Amino acid sequence: MPQRTPLLINPKAGSLFRSGLKAWLDEQRHIFRIVPTRSAEELTEKARSLAENGARVVAVAGGDGTLMNAAQGLIGTGAAMGILPCGTMNVFARELGIGSRRFQVALDAILSGEYREVDVFTINKRPFLQMAGFGPDARIIKLITPQLKRRLGAAAHIVTGIKVAVEHHPTITLTLPNGESAQGTQIILGNGKRYGGEAHLFADARYDDGLLDAAIIQLASTGILFEVLGLMTHRGATERNTTDFTQLRQITEATITADGKLAYHLDGDYAGTLYPGEEAYIERLPHRLRVCVPAIPVPVTPLGRLLAHPMVETLREKLQALDEI
Ligand SMILES: [Mg+2]
Repeated sequence: MPQRTPLLINPKAGSLFRSGLKAWLDEQRHIFRIVPTRSAEELTEKARSLAENGARVVAVAGGDGTLMNAAQGLIGTGAAMGILPCGTMNVFARELGIGSRRFQVALDAILSGEYREVDVFTINKRPFLQMAGFGPDARIIKLITPQLKRRLGAAAHIVTGIKVAVEHHPTITLTLPNGESAQGTQIILGNGKRYGGEAHLFADARYDDGLLDAAIIQLASTGILFEVLGLMTHRGATERNTTDFTQLRQITEATITADGKLAYHLDGDYAGTLYPGEEAYIERLPHRLRVCVPAIPVPVTPLGRLLAHPMVETLREKLQALDEI
């Protein structure tokens, strides 16, 4: 019997059941050897030890945050990460042409032998794969607790959004190694083009060009939201279509500071708060992450793009949740 691919999984994760992955996996026992994990730390450790013990591919089931935890254990080991995207947004998997919850495509990618080497950037030594944000987006993520989500559902985003919109936003400064700097109230960093679902925020971003794309937005509260939505409807920001409120930079390293408390997120998970006088240091890791990609990327149709819109996704999750009751 050929060696099965180890698959890291949190057996209790709700997404496993909601996404239908659990049922699908029952048919794939000859391909995967399930490795259960209970915490993010354990997932990272197990990913690393599987790679160090000779696994050429280590598969992981989860959303963007979970993939980041697995990647932390795999970077620099030479093992490739196989992705079974069963989260809500699955932005990284979409970027790689695997799509969201397309398990057959994901399996093809794992078995295809096709790899891509992806840049990995870190903020204060913690890596992220797809995106990071400093400012109101991270504040909202911080305030939306699982309990609030359970109690209010999709309305949790609206309630939290309003609360954050009326808060004071500190001025954020991004400083490049050459001393050049830019200021704003929201900074979004993208390793790829996508920011939430299929929506593109960085038209010119590439995963393997060694550069991190940064948007520095100088608006307050709801202005930021409309600016981001505007850029998304143009299929992402370029030097040509940005407004006076947004500056674009492609960076390899930078320092971020603020004149007030500043929350930040990594791949959509709240990561910490900077205080005045503290700084966040962004740098690129010397090693890239190897990931399995399908030989033929899954095509994204205009309808697929609409269905993948964050608001439609939230609605679909709600309907599925109702179904389960
Ligand atoms: Mg890049």
